[in-house]
Amino acid sequence: MATKKKSPGGTKGKKSSKSTTKKRTTTKKKSTKRCSEAKENKKITDREKIIQEIRKRLVEQKEKLLQEAETALNSLPEESAFPDLGDQASAEIDKNFMLRLRGREQKLIKKIELAIEKIDNGTYGICEVCGCEIGIKRLEARPVTTMCIDCKTEQEEEEKLLEA
Ligand SMILES: [Zn+2]
Repeated sequence: MATKKKSPGGTKGKKSSKSTTKKRTTTKKKSTKRCSEAKENKKITDREKIIQEIRKRLVEQKEKLLQEAETALNSLPEESAFPDLGDQASAEIDKNFMLRLRGREQKLIKKIELAIEKIDNGTYGICEVCGCEIGIKRLEARPVTTMCIDCKTEQEEEEKLLEA
């Protein structure tokens, strides 16, 4: 008669048996980046395609720069008509050239190498300052950039302040 004591609510776990086990197994890669969350896979593929194009361009650009540097290095001493000075003169020219090269081209070559390295290890196109993705158009226009436009602008403003 009084068998109602065992309340029906006592037998728990009836409804939550299977439904929760299928919780999205598609664990997204942990991304701590603020702004890449909305990016979808399709977009990333497009982006990667473009990045590979950029990589090709960078490799070519680097090779061209190195070749130009070499040609310049080789041609200068040979044209000098100072057999007496010979080694000394060419050494000086080398030094001057390397100094000049160190300034602009070498910096650029280094940047290019760094960019290629980043492409290869998958960190390319991420702003070094804020960790956000750098716009693909910006990357295409300035493939060696390491900052998004916002951070770059900020940095430039800070530099202006420092220089002033
Ligand atoms: Zn940034």
